[in-house]
Amino acid sequence: MDEKTKKNEANKKVIVNALLTVLKVEKISPSFIRVQFSSNKPVNIDPLWVCPYLKLLFPDPSTGLIIFPKLDDNNKIVLDDKLRVLVRNYSVREFDSVTNQFFVDFTIHDTGLASVWSQKAKVGDQIGLIGAASKLYFTNDCLVLIGDISAVPAICYTLEHLPKKHKAFAFIQVNHKSDMVSLPDNKNIAVNWFVQNSDNPHQLVDAVINADLSGKNKLLFWGGMERSLAQPVRHAIKGKYTHLSPDAFQITNYWRKGFAEGQFKHRE
Ligand SMILES: Cc1cc2nc3c(=O)[nH]c(=O)nc-3n(C[C@H](O)[C@H](O)[C@H](O)COP(=O)(O)OP(=O)(O)OC[C@H]3O[C@@H](n4cnc5c(N)ncnc54)[C@H](O)[C@@H]3O)c2cc1C
Repeated sequence: MDEKTKKNEANKKVIVNALLTVLKVEKISPSFIRVQFSSNKPVNIDPLWVCPYLKLLFPDPSTGLIIFPKLDDNNKIVLDDKLRVLVRNYSVREFDSVTNQFFVDFTIHDTGLASVWSQKAKVGDQIGLIGAASKLYFTNDCLVLIGDISAVPAICYTLEHLPKKHKAFAFIQVNHKSDMVSLPDNKNIAVNWFVQNSDNPHQLVDAVINADLSGKNKLLFWGGMERSLAQPVRHAIKGKYTHLSPDAFQITNYWRKGFAEGQFKHRE
């Protein structure tokens, strides 16, 4: 790995162990609760990060305490099993570097440490922020963003921060029509919304695979969705775009039906 790559790798993750305090809670659509947080420490969200995300640390349910992980000699987080079950990944929906405030959109589902916490959250409540990270930087590649409801915040953020003249396509499947939001609309961005439909379970994969992406710059596919959707998406695009390098396919299992975070692999 050359020096520049090493530096880039290092910059894709920042560890802060900060305390986040709830400033506002709002139900913004049938599927989402938006929480605005202030952070007691500055956090560096690189403006060139694609789909940045946060490692949130929830209070131990038995004690109510937030115990931050320690860092080892290489500045890596030491997460034991007791702590790991309290950590969840959530995207940055919006970030204000002047006030150090974040917005996070939590999908509403019946069980789950994070979702249930968000449904009960009130002004003044606190959680931890272990750090922030991203897998990718904006490059000249044409971004193809694919996601289900859990990736709506990441995709919205990324399209809203897309550098001028960069091109992006988005294919987003939501639970309800009213989960759709208005997004930048210009000649560089094309957004395709779908509402989940049990009669047409393959609509997202079909749309991605049938899209005419020819004549664009090098393509870079990014995805975040439930595992059983991510698998056919990964398979279909790798099968069609065989000339692209493996790095051009960044499809992550954001969640897995019936499994809590930490009980499944994000890439398989
Ligand atoms: C990098 C990254 C960024 C992410 N950003 C966001 C984000 O901004 N907003 C967001 O809502 N999610 C996001 N997710 C997904 C989120 O981390 C998972 O959905 C996580 O499992 C939620 O934690 P939980 O404690 O609520 O549920 P868990 O305790 O992990 O799971 C409990 C149960 O809930 C189910 N479940 C989990 N997620 C969902 C869901 N979305 N819909 C229905 N059932 C579900 C599980 O299958 C399990 O049965 C992101 C994931 C990653 C990897």
